[in-house]
Amino acid sequence: MENVRVRFAPSPTGYLHIGGLRTALYNYLFAKKHGGQFILRIEDTDQTRFVEGAIENLINSLHWAGIDYDEGVIVDDKGHVSQKGDRGPYIQSQRLDIYKKYVDELIENGYAYYCFCNKERLDDLREMQRAEGKIPKYDGLCRGVSLEDAKKRIAAGEEYVVRLKMPKNKNLEFDDLVRGHISINSDDVDDQVLLKSDGYPTYHLAVVVDDHLMGITHIVRGEEWISSTPKHVYLYEAFGWEKPTFVHLPTVLNDQRKKLSKREGDVSVEDFKKSGYLPQGLVNYLALVGWSPADNREIFSLKEMEEVFDFDRVSNAGGIFDRNKLDWVNAHYMKELSGDEIYDLAKPYILEAGLMDEDYYKNHKDWIIFLFQIIQDSVSNLKEIPAAISFAFEDAPDLGEEEKEILKGETVPKLLQALEDKVSSIEDFTFEEAKGLMKAIQKETGIKGKNLYMPTRIVLTGVQHGPELANILYLFGKDKILQRIARFK
Ligand code: GLU
Repeated sequence: MENVRVRFAPSPTGYLHIGGLRTALYNYLFAKKHGGQFILRIEDTDQTRFVEGAIENLINSLHWAGIDYDEGVIVDDKGHVSQKGDRGPYIQSQRLDIYKKYVDELIENGYAYYCFCNKERLDDLREMQRAEGKIPKYDGLCRGVSLEDAKKRIAAGEEYVVRLKMPKNKNLEFDDLVRGHISINSDDVDDQVLLKSDGYPTYHLAVVVDDHLMGITHIVRGEEWISSTPKHVYLYEAFGWEKPTFVHLPTVLNDQRKKLSKREGDVSVEDFKKSGYLPQGLVNYLALVGWSPADNREIFSLKEMEEVFDFDRVSNAGGIFDRNKLDWVNAHYMKELSGDEIYDLAKPYILEAGLMDEDYYKNHKDWIIFLFQIIQDSVSNLKEIPAAISFAFEDAPDLGEEEKEILKGETVPKLLQALEDKVSSIEDFTFEEAKGLMKAIQKETGIKGKNLYMPTRIVLTGVQHGPELANILYLFGKDKILQRIARFK
């Protein structure tokens, strides 16, 4: 394959949507697989939607997800936005001169025209067309204004936009690697505004000019842009440029087959991070929303994905975002965390839950790591850790009805007495001691199975299930075990 160059071109809306992360990921994987370059371009030509800090937020989310790029906008160590690469600038609002030059070229060559219609006229026109049951479309009135007149009106200070002059009855065609061959008649396409009255280009002009000048070979983006593509195809033709290959990705949907929306909970990368997902878990799962490898494998590192990823296995139907499946994939990566990793990553969740304060967290590292390790296999994300370890902190856990019933068992008093005696007699409560304790109690009292383990567990933790008993005993140590037994005697 030619030297692959792809780009992710988000508008800085304030956050990175999970669907955007998947688009970035597929671009990244494709570039890596073919030894090409991946570019991050910021499409900020809609000044009405400017959001402070949005670029930094976007880049931080990509960085967190482990998706890096070769050229484009970066945030340095000090948090400053800068750029790298020799085809910049990579922020569209810094390229206004470039767009102006290409718009002028289109006008001179008869592919675009100045339009002076004001908002009122356009609103009336739209309303009239709607009333007639037609799809609203510019009627081409200003096509009739000669270039000479138009220039005079502009010199006199009249406001204008520049529109693309769509040809009549022409098939605009392209091949999409996911959607196949697509052909649309130009009569169904509007005379798109290319340059707005504020001097900014619209998305359509900027995207074509930039993709061409930046040498983009494959345009990989969400399918919501597919209806814009015929306009772009015509622009490539008007400029006399070779068009790139198009790849439109299926939308990431919720289980109602609707676009994931803020109202239903987590949609941005930031949201998922806050909800305790690991970048490797989120990225691995996300890759599978709309794509599947030939062997239906489900757990991949980024590196492994790079090798097998291709667009021929991207589905053309929307991909359903399944939270349970995400949990399952993320749980896999939770299990893989080392003690030090989980200690660092879980800290904000533990502090937020108020289970320990900063000093305690710092001063009990080994104990905390042991605690995490005994519950690590039972949680699917970092946010679940506080609940999973709370048994070790509540001094008087509330018991449920069933638990209370179990503690009324005939052999319970004898069991608790034996436990208390035995634990009191142990000088050095090592892990070996903890491991042998229940066997010793069984031998001594004759109490076994459920009657032995359940009450002990409930007395220690308040609940019937949880980490292995030997681990709990060791974690608690002598004093805490005795303290908890005392409560029930
Ligand atoms: N700026 C567009 C967006 O926000 C990019 C579309 C494209 O990739 O062409 O998604």
